[in-house]
Amino acid sequence: MFNKVLIANRGEIALRIIRACKELSIKTVAVYSQADADSLHVLMADEAYCVGPAAAAKSYLNVSNIISVALMSGAEAIHPGYGFMSERADFAEMCKEHDLVFIGPSPEMIRQMGDKATAKQTMLAAGMPVVPGLDGITADHAKIKAWADEAGYPVLVKATAGGGGKGMRLVESADHIENAVHSAQAEAQAAFGNPDVYIEKYILKPRHIEFQILADKYGHVIHLGERDCSIQRRHQKLIEEAPSPVMTTELREKVGRTITDAIAEIGYEGVGTVELLFDNHMNYYFMEMNTRIQVEHPVTEMITGIDLLKEQIRMAAGERLTLKQEDVTFNGHSIECRINAEDPSKGFAPRPGTIDGFIVPGGPGVRVDSHCYQDYKIPPYYDSLIGKLITHGKDREEAIIRMRRALDEFAITGIPTTIPFHLDMMNFAPFVEGKEITTNFMVEHGLV
Ligand code: ADP
Ligand code: ADP
Ligand code: MG
Repeated sequence: MFNKVLIANRGEIALRIIRACKELSIKTVAVYSQADADSLHVLMADEAYCVGPAAAAKSYLNVSNIISVALMSGAEAIHPGYGFMSERADFAEMCKEHDLVFIGPSPEMIRQMGDKATAKQTMLAAGMPVVPGLDGITADHAKIKAWADEAGYPVLVKATAGGGGKGMRLVESADHIENAVHSAQAEAQAAFGNPDVYIEKYILKPRHIEFQILADKYGHVIHLGERDCSIQRRHQKLIEEAPSPVMTTELREKVGRTITDAIAEIGYEGVGTVELLFDNHMNYYFMEMNTRIQVEHPVTEMITGIDLLKEQIRMAAGERLTLKQEDVTFNGHSIECRINAEDPSKGFAPRPGTIDGFIVPGGPGVRVDSHCYQDYKIPPYYDSLIGKLITHGKDREEAIIRMRRALDEFAITGIPTTIPFHLDMMNFAPFVEGKEITTNFMVEHGLV
């Protein structure tokens, strides 16, 4: 096992990683920007070093400074968390060149899966059904139009380097396709530095259901069931839960087996998430793979009792995964609400600022993963996540009842938050009923 790990991230996920390291008796090194000197991850780590000014490009994405701190502090491994460097193959490569373990899959695998068009082809070849589309990346408008005319509208133009819900264009008819390709390319170039796009069928009113997988270096692969992340705004997740209210044991086993076979086939290592879309007949299609720990991983931890971060770190250190598929059991139901510094009454506009009061809920079945505290100033430079409120209950009903209570207890003053939105949702009959939730839910019910 490692003696010391550097955490190349900030916010709640940096704390989550530090907590896992502490339980594994690993020393921790934090890095931070000038805007984050008062952040909790800086206080909680054994050592902390400033790696640059506020702008992420100059601090949390400053490869040479982060590698230098790792080498100077004697860290053996770097945990990238999610976002920032977590899916940067060049960073994983740089770690390798300096004999530092990147806690994640190999640079080749990150590259292969990070390019979403290539990932679809890889998974298709490994036996997974994928969202129907035109193979690979293309800028050939005539070819795109011919495919879409044949396949039928609506179709979706997507950035192959896309992430965080960005770089997608819905096309409802042939006369809009050329414009959509151009604007998706421009947005992709600006957001990801790569203008390449691919095209696929727009699945009508799907559910976003993703499977958590664990794969050690010795070819042993298991899945920890699914998370339903269908409550979204602009293709970004707001609420996640496990299990999915529409999943059956038989279907979980079947899809799970298809996924673990495919993951073993491609030789993936580490934790990862296979994101699928399910249509209203429960046909499923591979959409993309995230080669990192995910924001919503706690709902899986709550129902399986497995600490995903500790397993991830152990596997990166070369330990065998001792869990077998038959050891994985599911207990009750868990829901996560992303609490953001945003004003839901003003189109979810980000509202960073100083938190005057911060009273955290507790009691049975309640977990709060947050880096915030009273008088903490949320900097405007990064994403607006204040923290994640997670509840667990013996069934979905109890998880919702606990979520209502916990949201009610959660008192954050000084800035607007998404707490009132989540409270409304927990009391909204179609959500509570659960069976008719699709990625269209927010729009359908006029909630955005
Ligand atoms: P998850 O897939 O774990 O649910 P999100 O899609 O919410 O996570 O993304 C987590 C964080 O990572 C967000 O801060 C998001 O903006 C960022 N992120 C995700 N993918 C990318 C990407 N390709 N480029 C830049 N940032 C990204
Ligand atoms: P990101 O890398 O930004 O997470 P994804 O490919 O995972 O992008 O897509 C994000 C969301 O966009 C999905 O959860 C889903 O709501 C929607 N989406 C993506 N592809 C399709 C599709 N082919 N049909 C319908 N919705 C889609
Ligand atoms: Mg996704």
